[in-house]
Amino acid sequence: MSTIYNFSAGPAMMPKDVLLQAQEEFQNWNKLGCSIMEISHRSEEFIQVAIEAEKDLRDLLNIPDDFKVLFCQGGARGQFSAVPMNLLHHVKKTDYINSGYWSNCAFIESKKYCIPNTILIKKKHNEKIFLLPMSQWEINKDSAYIHYCPNETIDGLSIYEEPLFEKKVIIADFSSCILSRVINIRNYDLIYAGAQKNIGPSGITIIIIRKNMIRFLSKISPSILDYKIISEHQSMFNTPPTFAWYLSGLVFKWLKKKGGLKNIEKLNKKKSDLLYKKIDDSDFYINNINNMNRSMMNVIFYLKNPKLNQIFLEEATKSGLNYLKGHRIVGGMRASIYNAMPLEGVQALIKFMSYFENRYG
Ligand SMILES: *Cc1c(COP(=O)(O)O)cnc(C)c1O
Repeated sequence: MSTIYNFSAGPAMMPKDVLLQAQEEFQNWNKLGCSIMEISHRSEEFIQVAIEAEKDLRDLLNIPDDFKVLFCQGGARGQFSAVPMNLLHHVKKTDYINSGYWSNCAFIESKKYCIPNTILIKKKHNEKIFLLPMSQWEINKDSAYIHYCPNETIDGLSIYEEPLFEKKVIIADFSSCILSRVINIRNYDLIYAGAQKNIGPSGITIIIIRKNMIRFLSKISPSILDYKIISEHQSMFNTPPTFAWYLSGLVFKWLKKKGGLKNIEKLNKKKSDLLYKKIDDSDFYINNINNMNRSMMNVIFYLKNPKLNQIFLEEATKSGLNYLKGHRIVGGMRASIYNAMPLEGVQALIKFMSYFENRYG
């Protein structure tokens, strides 16, 4: 089989080494004579896996002791509800930054629980899309928190600034960029991320929350989404997705072996720079996003002649470059190049783009 590179946006590719290890121990994990998915989440063996996963995640992101790590279910969309249900008590006003598809979804869901003020930061100038810098966000003085999304998976837009708002609670949906670059956890109060983009398997959601935010039992939240309950039960109030948890743990170990987030960030920058350069250097492909806001994870591009879209996708698939079709609401192409995508995958895509341009341009 010739090499296939998978550019799926999510669930997305996982590191080959991790898949091989999981395969090796699939039927006989830890010499137990069975798979890890066949043992109790309360067994000593599984608890060790859970503890190690948390420790490795803490090392990678340099998570301070006054933050809790929770492993939850319900995906990022679960958190669109859980955040307002858990965090709002008296104050019902909130700020939702709208930078694209997912942050807008979070805003829409929040309306069930609070009075969100939506702040549109996606703008266009000279045909280029850009996001307003944080200094220009019109935040409400009396809002309970600010919610934003640092990487818009569908729009290919990113915010790289760290949130430095005095006396404001900051919530960030890191679903498609967690562990892609170095961040300072202290600048956030709550970070959440579904695992299926930049970690691995779907079914598990990671929450990193400042401990003093876990104050009350929520009156309205289902127990399985209640931060206090999840926290008091070490993320095992109900049966967690054990196999996804184990695989995520293997990915964390793989990232550490790769030299941690400093190295990963460098590689991610290199991969995305190469691809954007290819697009910018040609008259055949277009990306109309301002340099400052281009996503390192989800690279969107259009063919100048959209009639060629279908042929592009068919020929790309034949060349082993899979799932490049852009999301239906933005069209065009999208190459999702998360941590697991090797440099060779991006190089293969660039080579194919050159070939295709020569042939059809
Ligand atoms: C994929 C995605 C979501 C939705 O995640 P689910 O786990 O399917 O609920 C939310 N936000 C962002 C930024 C995403 O990329």
